[in-house]
Amino acid sequence: MLSPNSTIGIVGGGQLGRMSAVAASRLGFKTHILSDIPDPPAGQVASHTTIGAYDDPQILESFANAVDVITFEFENIDAKGIDLLSSIRPVHPSGHILRISQDRILEKSFLNDHDIPTTKWLKIEQPSDGEKAGAKFGYPFILKTTRLGYDGKGQAVIHNPDEFEAAFHTLKPHPLIAEKKVDFACEVSVMVVRNIHGVVQTFDVAENQHKNSILDLTLVPARIQPDLRQQVQELAIHLANALELIGILGVELFIDRDGKILVNEIAPRPHNSGHWTMNACPIDQFEMHIRAVTGLPLPPAIRHSDAVMKNLIGPEDMALWPKIMATPGLIGHLYGKEIAKPGRKMGHVNILFPYNSLPGEFGIRAMLQDL
Ligand code: ADP
Ligand code: MG
Repeated sequence: MLSPNSTIGIVGGGQLGRMSAVAASRLGFKTHILSDIPDPPAGQVASHTTIGAYDDPQILESFANAVDVITFEFENIDAKGIDLLSSIRPVHPSGHILRISQDRILEKSFLNDHDIPTTKWLKIEQPSDGEKAGAKFGYPFILKTTRLGYDGKGQAVIHNPDEFEAAFHTLKPHPLIAEKKVDFACEVSVMVVRNIHGVVQTFDVAENQHKNSILDLTLVPARIQPDLRQQVQELAIHLANALELIGILGVELFIDRDGKILVNEIAPRPHNSGHWTMNACPIDQFEMHIRAVTGLPLPPAIRHSDAVMKNLIGPEDMALWPKIMATPGLIGHLYGKEIAKPGRKMGHVNILFPYNSLPGEFGIRAMLQDL
């Protein structure tokens, strides 16, 4: 267990690192951010910031030596870098988990090997594999890069055989992965956290709605049958144990029209779909993560309220900020980003409701329209 005033190194300087650093500071820890861009959002609230490339051995070495434990808010640091950091300080979650989650093929293979259902998939190595995917999944299917995708980037929907070849050459690097396009009833996610003693806790299952492939709304609890919610949580606990996770992990899932659960992807870090916990839970996802990586006890992940989280994306949503601040009941969070580019996540708003009284779709939409 790390003592107060110890320093947590966080690789990545985005909003997830920023909110993790705030949570760490509440527990009396210092934070040191490693970022490859200047003035990162996390640097504004951390004790120290190092600006440098994630694959520069000298940078990594001096960063590791300056901290007591290392964690991530950005999981795409390469294997060599992770090994170097791990040779100097404890790294949580482990390099093993990062490697799995960095690569959609390793990820789906790991999940399937542990009896966790995913979308049907196929490794794509050459143009002729397109026909195989079409035969296996029918059209449309989805073609994705195996690495570095986020917010729907690095993906193409293939509607007919003629579209495959161009997409195959545009998406890089190879191999790619083809996935059956799931006709889902809804998308849900769950945050699971596990510590060094094997204590595992899960937050309540959240329902996610995307706009332009970017998370728009999260509703909690997910409006699915309670037994399905429990199955999702049990699946997440099984996964956390199988990975020997230390830290928090977001699991994104589809619920198909037959009520079948399929895991879409996993992210071994705090997750956008867990931001509702900041106001609807006594201990949020960021504090849980910090507790796990510092060896503190993990209390149950209790929610005291139902919640809706709305992402604030790009200049349009930033223009709403004054109104959000002036509206009682809206709890605003901003990430300190200077320029509101289209598609950039600038902040989010949480709205709370009494426990087990989330309004219906119509009520939620009406409320958000008033913004
Ligand atoms: P990332 O979040 O890394 O950009 P995802 O694989 O989660 O990539 O894809 C983003 C979104 O695209 C998903 O949340 C989902 O809405 C949609 N999507 C992705 N894969 C599928 C699929 N196989 N079937 C249906 N929808 C999908
Ligand atoms: Mg995703």
